[in-house]
Amino acid sequence: MAPENHAHYPLITNHSELVYWDSAATTPAPRPVIEAQRVWIERQHANVHRGQYELAVKSTAAIEKIRTQTQRWLKAPADWTVIFNSGATAGLNTVASGLDEQIVDNDSIVVTADAHHSLFVPLQQLARRRKARFVVIGIDEQGQLDDEAWGEAIARRPKIVGLPQVSNVTGRIHNIDLLGAQAQAAGAFVITDAAQAVAHLDISLQDLPTDAYIFSAHKMYGPTGVGVLAISPRLASVLTPYTFGGGMIDRVDADGSTWANLPDKLEAGTPNLWGIAAFGATLTWLEHQRPEIIEHDQTIMQAALDQLGRVPGLKLYGPSTTVDRIPLFSFNIAGLHAHDVAEVIGQNGVAVRAGHHCAQPLHRAWDVPATVRASAGHYTTLQDVERLRQAINEAIKTLSHGR
Ligand code: PMP
Repeated sequence: MAPENHAHYPLITNHSELVYWDSAATTPAPRPVIEAQRVWIERQHANVHRGQYELAVKSTAAIEKIRTQTQRWLKAPADWTVIFNSGATAGLNTVASGLDEQIVDNDSIVVTADAHHSLFVPLQQLARRRKARFVVIGIDEQGQLDDEAWGEAIARRPKIVGLPQVSNVTGRIHNIDLLGAQAQAAGAFVITDAAQAVAHLDISLQDLPTDAYIFSAHKMYGPTGVGVLAISPRLASVLTPYTFGGGMIDRVDADGSTWANLPDKLEAGTPNLWGIAAFGATLTWLEHQRPEIIEHDQTIMQAALDQLGRVPGLKLYGPSTTVDRIPLFSFNIAGLHAHDVAEVIGQNGVAVRAGHHCAQPLHRAWDVPATVRASAGHYTTLQDVERLRQAINEAIKTLSHGR
């Protein structure tokens, strides 16, 4: 189990006292990503578009090359558009706001109960603005969709369906091939939140039945402040701009303005050039590491499920086997509060997170105020799995004391 992976990630080696189990929140970056950002700043930085000098022309070309690289990495059809923005939240808001004109009274918009607030709330607010029905499909404690409610929702021919490809609470991989195809066959635009998918799965948009594919670089070993919104030609043809300003216009007059073509139309303002440079290196890194990461995930998942299964009173949410999941484990300990458990785990040098994980409706439906979440990355070792179990046991011992 490759402790040598640690050497790629300076944050991990600089905090060798810390066992990092918070990769679903953000992932430390490997050296080539950090280096790419430094090289950009020191050698290439100039603003894109309309620069008449060589450095600016090269800068524009370099960013466009990374756009093409992203399209290739996603295996996106040639007629899809890749838009750079600040992250998944920006991408999801861009789509939800840009579809405003498509929604009329009594249309329905569907999301799953395990949607992150960044998917849930923009679609909820769109529904409110346009007086549409907002339908939330139940998710059980194994992370599985309520098939009956889904069938009924699709039968009503929704206009938009928002799906997390992987839940950031249960770790379950949803079957976008099936759900997306059913939603599209019913006429819906399918919005896929891939924020928790891109670090773990082989991605191919070639045949994926979705109209938008959205994620953040900082959850896939890349920089903060960079996100990707990939959109199908069908969605592109109707999406109106959500942010206005420089770079996105065609002509501006006192009595009105017209918009540039895509991708510029949805990229108002100066892009995060430092970040996009680092993102290019992130994609190259993942391309090389992907087979190993997929194998590594399997090893960690199996070991973690074994170890967590040995903790008395531990209730795991999400799939109980390695099938259809990523190495992300949300749990509670019988009789203890998640925040107390996470605090003692933290005092034992293990970084986990407790709360509703930006999925309040899901926790409310399960009738639990919070869960503890431990999520692994490329640098997680079998020893880290053991340390996690020990820290949970310490928490149980400490918090049960005197009961
Ligand atoms: N969707 C999911 C499933 C997430 O896990 C997150 C981040 N926790 C987001 C969306 C939002 O990502 P960001 O904060 O990078 O915009």
